[in-house]
Amino acid sequence: MTQEPSALHPEELLVYDDEYQVIICQQCQYALRGTAIDRHLKEVHKILRSSRRPYMAYVSKFPLLEPEEVINKPLNDFPVPFLPVFDGLKCMDGSCSYLCISVKRMQKHWLSEHGRHGYDNKDWQHALLQTFFRGNSLRYFTGPSKEPVCGESQVMKGCRSPRIIKMPDNGYLFPSKDELLDHFQTSTFSTIVKGEEDLWRHAVPEIATSHQFLMHAILACSALHLAAKHPLQQQYLICAFKYQSIAMPLFRDAVAKVTEDNCHAILGFMHLLVVYSFGAERHEDSLLLIDTSSPEPDFLLSWLYFRRNGCTLLGNYKELISSGPLKQLCRCSHLPDITTEKLPQTLDVLLVALEDLLESLHKGDELSMEDCQAFEQAGHQLLRSFVRAGNLGSDFNPWDAVCGWPMLVSLQYTRLLAQQHPVALILLGYYCLLLKKLQGYWFIGTYPLRLLYLIKGGLEQRWHCYIDALISRWEEGL
Ligand SMILES: [Zn+2]
Ligand SMILES: [Zn+2]
Repeated sequence: MTQEPSALHPEELLVYDDEYQVIICQQCQYALRGTAIDRHLKEVHKILRSSRRPYMAYVSKFPLLEPEEVINKPLNDFPVPFLPVFDGLKCMDGSCSYLCISVKRMQKHWLSEHGRHGYDNKDWQHALLQTFFRGNSLRYFTGPSKEPVCGESQVMKGCRSPRIIKMPDNGYLFPSKDELLDHFQTSTFSTIVKGEEDLWRHAVPEIATSHQFLMHAILACSALHLAAKHPLQQQYLICAFKYQSIAMPLFRDAVAKVTEDNCHAILGFMHLLVVYSFGAERHEDSLLLIDTSSPEPDFLLSWLYFRRNGCTLLGNYKELISSGPLKQLCRCSHLPDITTEKLPQTLDVLLVALEDLLESLHKGDELSMEDCQAFEQAGHQLLRSFVRAGNLGSDFNPWDAVCGWPMLVSLQYTRLLAQQHPVALILLGYYCLLLKKLQGYWFIGTYPLRLLYLIKGGLEQRWHCYIDALISRWEEGL
């Protein structure tokens, strides 16, 4: 169980690395820019102003470097204590030092930088990666490749209770497949969506016994769930990445040939893909719906691409599925029609701002008709999504969230989002606020809030007021 941060002494939450002259948040496991510490304590850890004073007094004792200076310092030690270790990839092309976490990103790198398709184990190899910062200053680094000694544990300096960094090669420290499946069926199953416990505990694992892609998705979600519960134990996150990267190509093979036999497994997989993606994308810098390195058409992230195309893919088996073991998972993405008076009052101010924004687009000539329509449609669907979420009250769940707005926005909108058009980003910000209702789910948590900050970071000053309004609405509670 994670301790309440405010119950921690400053030095227990914030640790100073004197080698890199940087403050690292032990719970979040990343470094904080000096000027961002106070905000981090307030926004991420919900520490009130008066309680923040001892923390700020503590950090003021240390000289701090700017992120750019930290990133460019020569590396003496690897892994750097208190930072997570990721199972990543390293480009093997001559002097290229490109590092990343996912195969899709590496493939994109090969196409854009080396002008051809790259191949696993030949053009890149596995490497352990760390990063000091998240967000805009995220920069992976790796250490000299050396064989970790089996069973060796590294006691980290400056840590009260010795912490062990688990190296991926220490196989025995990793949960086995049986342990992950057991964890899924004794714990994870009950955390996915209320009312579907039986389905996730029994029906889905049962189907998975004859469909490896589904089994690996279960293992990945179980590992990701463990990673969320034990953020200091990196082996779980590494496991999650590993099983998901095995599952994806198997799943692609399956959707290329949908049959009576695999249609239920495909539907189950598409749902676990949402759990996995929300839980894992927080470690990436994507925009939840799209990522310019996505292997899917139109830059859509895989979860969304398969969600949007699920009906077409599974169309011929609709009846079979809706009377089968996963029938509970069949639902439509219909949103209620709205009239202004049905809107929840608490949202009035925000929605007026959104309407004003859309209105002003009409007047300006900066936008083509097509773009304007894409934004208006996306804005309208958002309003309807908020109304539906309001109507559903506490029954609103992650499937409702993904079946609504992200499924209904036009590809023109997602293209504008991929281009980081300010209005597209602001609309995504509204969607983040909608997800606040789901923060009790471990795979969502405060990820939407962090995404709001990421969005703000990508916007020019004149647009900040929109995101600031959403952030303060998040903090006040909806
Ligand atoms: Zn933190
Ligand atoms: Zn390269």
